[in-house]
Amino acid sequence: MSSGVPDTDAIVVGAGLAGLTAARDLVAAGVETVVLEARGRVGGRLLAAEIAPGKIVELGGQWIGPTQRRVAALADELGIGTFPTFDDGDSILELDGVTRHYSGTIPRLGPLVLLDIAQARFRLERLARRVPPQAPWSTPGAAALDGRTLADWLERGGMRTSAAREMLRVAARTIWGADPEDMSLLHALFYLRSAGGLDPLLDVEGGAQHSRLVGGSQRLATTLAADLGDRVKLSSPVSSVEWTSEGVAVGDGAGVALRARRAVIAVPPHLRDALGISPKPPGAVSDRFPAGRLIKCAAVYEEPFWRAQGLSGEALSDAGPVGLTFDNSPPAGSPGVLLGFVGGAAARRWGDVAVTDRREAVLADFARIFGPRAASPDDYLEQDWGLERWSGGGPTFAVPPAGWTEAGPGLATPFGPIHWAGTETAARWAGFMDGAVSSGERAAAAVIASL
Ligand SMILES: Cc1cc2nc3c(=O)[nH]c(=O)nc-3n(C[C@H](O)[C@H](O)[C@H](O)COP(=O)(O)OP(=O)(O)OC[C@H]3O[C@@H](n4cnc5c(N)ncnc54)[C@H](O)[C@@H]3O)c2cc1C
Repeated sequence: MSSGVPDTDAIVVGAGLAGLTAARDLVAAGVETVVLEARGRVGGRLLAAEIAPGKIVELGGQWIGPTQRRVAALADELGIGTFPTFDDGDSILELDGVTRHYSGTIPRLGPLVLLDIAQARFRLERLARRVPPQAPWSTPGAAALDGRTLADWLERGGMRTSAAREMLRVAARTIWGADPEDMSLLHALFYLRSAGGLDPLLDVEGGAQHSRLVGGSQRLATTLAADLGDRVKLSSPVSSVEWTSEGVAVGDGAGVALRARRAVIAVPPHLRDALGISPKPPGAVSDRFPAGRLIKCAAVYEEPFWRAQGLSGEALSDAGPVGLTFDNSPPAGSPGVLLGFVGGAAARRWGDVAVTDRREAVLADFARIFGPRAASPDDYLEQDWGLERWSGGGPTFAVPPAGWTEAGPGLATPFGPIHWAGTETAARWAGFMDGAVSSGERAAAAVIASL
């Protein structure tokens, strides 16, 4: 670090949920803190859009589940209530040209497919139990598990029926914004372990999609930021971080902006290289931990008309760009909002076409699944997280083969005066808001202890 008296005790880079949680804990412990955020808003991958006066739809992260205790505790402390995700009625499965309606969590599929899914779940969860979530690279047999893709495992007996494999592909495109070919098997196992199993990950009732936050998830960030006041500096992209054992000097390309004794870096791992950290941390974390690509699409109607047809709004489809749908209407049920996810290879393909063509294709999917009324919404919104410079993808990391074993140890281990936060550095619920909160808490505690 160039010589100089520190301006503050700690600098937090990134005002997403992780950075803001870290800043909150630091300030509460009496550590003078400044938060530098590149965007002109806080929240990072949390983003609300207004669809009617006082009513919003989330274009980024939104649901929380019953085992996501850190984010639930934070919402509670901030006075932000929750409400259950609408889940009544039949769900729809469109697979290989056949449409099935079903209630509950188990679709009406042939016994062979159901058995295949049950066996694959058992095998995946058994393998996942071997993964230490704090250090996936030290899993017994890590090199072999990390040396192959999830697709390879599925093809070579992991799932024997093409219907089961196709369902997993569609789910993967939303969970990771990636296809099974893109991802290391070890990463999929880590993710399962981190979430506590396949059901907690996939289910609405009792799972990660169980509840929503009143007024939208971005309120977590805006409320935290309001409490931090002018400690949060918006439109302050960081592009240089020089460090010594004494501390850090953080700059924006036009020279040193601020000096501090410690830094908490709370940007997604693949954006770390853009921070120009010098001396450079070992391991190619940015290269080895890329983000997936996910486009979130919302169609707004006067009312959730599908409810009157006995439909939950949930569908899984392999027919078009939209893989999964949900009813995302506000708590009072008006207006009606249908949500569709376009992820992985579908997001790469459909992300490149004109907005009007994509909208048409998404609404055609909605209309085929929920009836012709779905073709003419009052409003249509979408967010392609792959086009967001300061996110560079979403929802979270989709680690390719060899990523964890090559670069895993550098992901969360402090480096000189630099501590790492961000949902990808969490052991529990990595990739989710819950992981973001716990990572911020962990980084703040480490900084406080080191000071
Ligand atoms: C479409 C989508 C759906 C999702 N659904 C869910 C869900 O339902 N439930 C759930 O729990 N999670 C969900 N997630 C994931 C969830 O949103 C994230 O896990 C969480 O918001 C990550 O928080 P974070 O603070 O770790 O990172 P981020 O929110 O990415 O925050 C990082 C911050 O760093 C800033 N930054 C980046 N580079 C710089 C720089 N050079 N200088 C300064 N600042 C910089 C960014 O602008 C950003 O504000 C979803 C995400 C997406 C995209």
